[in-house]
Amino acid sequence: LKGDDEHMNQTDKEFEKALRPLSFDDFTGQQKIVDNIKIFVLAAKKRGESLDHVLLHGPPGLGKTTLSHIIANELESSLKITSGPVLDKPSDLAGLLTNLEEGDVLFIDEIHRLNAVVEEYLYSAMEDFRIDIMLDSGPNARSVQISLNPFTLIGATTRSGLLTSPLRARFGINARLEYYDAKLLTTIVTRSANILGAPMDEVAAYEIARRSRGTPRIANTLLRRTRDFADIKGNGTINLEIAKFALDALDVDENGLDEMDNRILTTIIEKFKGGPVGISTIATACGEEGETIEEVYEPFLIQEGYLKRTSRGRIATELAYKHLNIRPHFGGNS
Ligand code: ADP
Repeated sequence: LKGDDEHMNQTDKEFEKALRPLSFDDFTGQQKIVDNIKIFVLAAKKRGESLDHVLLHGPPGLGKTTLSHIIANELESSLKITSGPVLDKPSDLAGLLTNLEEGDVLFIDEIHRLNAVVEEYLYSAMEDFRIDIMLDSGPNARSVQISLNPFTLIGATTRSGLLTSPLRARFGINARLEYYDAKLLTTIVTRSANILGAPMDEVAAYEIARRSRGTPRIANTLLRRTRDFADIKGNGTINLEIAKFALDALDVDENGLDEMDNRILTTIIEKFKGGPVGISTIATACGEEGETIEEVYEPFLIQEGYLKRTSRGRIATELAYKHLNIRPHFGGNS
């Protein structure tokens, strides 16, 4: 339920595609970002220019890829998708860039994971729509300049802090996606249930929404699993009872924290007296990668008030103790 691509199978991906909004009108929430981008898209179209480069940041599953598809649709241009770790050599990037048509959108996911050499090439491509390619090597080496069709780069990152400042400076539009509240997620799961043709009570939609870690991808995943329970254990309708039963079976607790969220909090409290403790120590104790904890789990736990970040490490708050039903030790932290 982590909400990242690596942990999805083929069916999940097909469902995700079916549920993905294709226009701004279908996209719920992130209102300010959407309103602004709509204007920028219209203005670029009106002037017949390519849209400025866009940087989207925020935790996985909040709609960065979806927004990129929508932007390309609204620009009436096509979207090419790649990711930072995939672009190994400058020639990989050059191949992609030289194939872009005027006004196309190039989406680079996990752009903070681009290697330094490739990133360097991107600078002139973004700025002047040209790249310098080295032909041959050794004594025959020479560089040729190739001009590119004007294009829009959309970079997505879960860790904007890891972006170099020269790269960051080359994005004219910079947007941070926020977690969704339960009301917005209710709209999203209701829309998804309609697309899937799954009958669902309003209270059940809200129950799934409020226990989805503020994340549309998780809400959609929980909806599909809940629908399985409704089909097998019930009469096909997703009602409150089925939703609660399914969410419990999926280890999503009353407050929407999943098993790893709870393991992180329990570890900090029980093994490290509530903190402060460093991320890598938490990661080792929990059997999860530090990067994943920082990208996926921690932002939500901090936003919901279970965890605090200090210069000496992470601290479990009073709310975390209350949530886990553990009494704070003498001189408790919070
Ligand atoms: P990210 O790229 O940020 O990891 P995605 O764009 O892949 O996230 O979103 C994951 C899924 O969540 C999408 O398939 C889409 O169905 C759904 N989704 C995301 N944002 C929204 C939204 N604002 N409205 C409706 N569905 C959304």
